[in-house]
Amino acid sequence: MDYLQLAKTYKTPLYVYDLAKITDAFSEMKDAFKARKSLVCYALKANSNLSIIHHLAKLGSGADCVSIGEVKRALKAGIPKYKIIFSGVGKQDIEIEEALQSDILFLNVESEEELFRIESIAKKLDKVARISVRVNPNIDAKTHPYISTGLSENKFGVDIEQAKSMYIFAKNAPNLEPIGIHFHIGSQLTELEPIKQSAQKIAELAHSLLALKIDLKFFDIGGGIGICYTDETLINPYDYAQAILGALYGLDLTIICEPGRFLVGESGVLLTSVLYEKYNGKKRFVIVDAAMNDLIRPALYQATHEVEYILKGNRESHTLTDNLCDVVGPICESSDYLAKNIKLPSLQAGDVLVLKNAGAYGYSMASNYNTRPRPAEVAFMGEDVRVIKHRESLDDMMRDEAELLQNYEDSKCD
Ligand SMILES: *Cc1c(COP(=O)(O)O)cnc(C)c1O
Repeated sequence: MDYLQLAKTYKTPLYVYDLAKITDAFSEMKDAFKARKSLVCYALKANSNLSIIHHLAKLGSGADCVSIGEVKRALKAGIPKYKIIFSGVGKQDIEIEEALQSDILFLNVESEEELFRIESIAKKLDKVARISVRVNPNIDAKTHPYISTGLSENKFGVDIEQAKSMYIFAKNAPNLEPIGIHFHIGSQLTELEPIKQSAQKIAELAHSLLALKIDLKFFDIGGGIGICYTDETLINPYDYAQAILGALYGLDLTIICEPGRFLVGESGVLLTSVLYEKYNGKKRFVIVDAAMNDLIRPALYQATHEVEYILKGNRESHTLTDNLCDVVGPICESSDYLAKNIKLPSLQAGDVLVLKNAGAYGYSMASNYNTRPRPAEVAFMGEDVRVIKHRESLDDMMRDEAELLQNYEDSKCD
């Protein structure tokens, strides 16, 4: 793809997604589990653009949602309700109510109190709520602490003993139907062993629940498979599936997996234009038009995105420099950087930098900090490029406040 041309046509900062890569990643995951009944539920929070979700829906994907907003996005993008699950530690009553009314596959329950809440809401609506309990296996996923979720010190899920009593309660409650069991130990996982151990622990629990005549149908292994940002060794989806299938020996359950990053991460890049170069003392900075509000992963997780450069105007030869640089944005925070201590030739205004592997947790974590409009998004399939989200305008950002201010000022004059 001609990124320089895209940058020219659609301006920067710009997210660009290659839909073919999403197709490939989806097929790889689906094929890995083909020995069993399985459902891939894309974790929408990685990238919740409707066109991206729609592309996955056409491939047969379901959706793992963590807010009622995401459930509505999934439905709008064409994911059938019977392939949608709703997870999250803090579901509000209204979210539970709307999820039950939407008749989605099930809710992943993360506390005893939430289970009681779901029961009473289901009773009020005269519905039967299909549920699954998220069990916290207390296993270290060995990833960044902010995206580790499977230890008892993390807020997610319930311990095994508590899970058991919740299942017994649910079995005896006419408005609850426990049909699944769930765990998710973290994100950007690069080691298989913690997943394998978790699956074994949870499978053991599933055996004992089935012995209690709790009619489980789904074994939901969460998401978290990592991608390669720098030099990580990766979990191969085939090995991943084999580890899960091994743990599930003797259990006739449909496997649900919830990959987010794995499906969309490598499909996306963030294009940004160089504005200036400068030296503070010996320290070299390349200042670009994208910032932490567009891509917060470096600032938030010290994440690394590989950077490629494209020189404008067919500059064949360029000045090489051995001075490493930081690529930084215009935001007034020292944490506002996109890359640190990397090698780049000396650059001019208008040259384009390509931040790779930015398809997951890029746009979906973007904000308006510093009153910066969120970037545009385009997707391509072969040579066919289309806009899937317009760049926000200043008007978009201020309309509501401006109207409220105007109303207030008008009312004072009366
Ligand atoms: C975030 C999340 C996922 C997806 O994680 P990835 O690392 O993007 O695969 C899946 N399931 C749950 C419950 C999550 O919170």
